Amino acid sequence: MTDEPGRDKVSGPDEEFSTSLTEGKFRIQQCNSCSAHCFPPRTLCPVCSSRDLEWRDASGIGWLHAFTIVRRSIEKGGDYNVVLVDLKEGPRMMSRVDGVALEDLKIGMALQAHVAQEADGDKVIFRPGESE
Ligand SMILES: [Zn+2]
Repeated sequence: MTDEPGRDKVSGPDEEFSTSLTEGKFRIQQCNSCSAHCFPPRTLCPVCSSRDLEWRDASGIGWLHAFTIVRRSIEKGGDYNVVLVDLKEGPRMMSRVDGVALEDLKIGMALQAHVAQEADGDKVIFRPGESE
């Protein structure tokens, strides 16, 4: 966590998610009423409005839905990607894909999530995964 103003007051589902990440676990919520998975973390099911959401380990399996390449000078760290990933459980999340050349990113490619400890916090990052 940082000491930036406004960033040290996470609570509720966001805090649960962050705590899991610090333990190296990628978890998402599942509704006990309608079985829908939800992400980002929330207090109400987006499908049926139930408050009966339970944290479950995510499979980490996903597919590249969309991506963009952010151009940056070498001195500032070089180019990187920002992606939208469709998780096997259903929700879509924004992240980054490591371990692949930018020109090799392909819509629909299989991805596997892992938790990365980075300077600005623990994050879910993807790598190319096994095709199913
Ligand atoms: Zn529901």
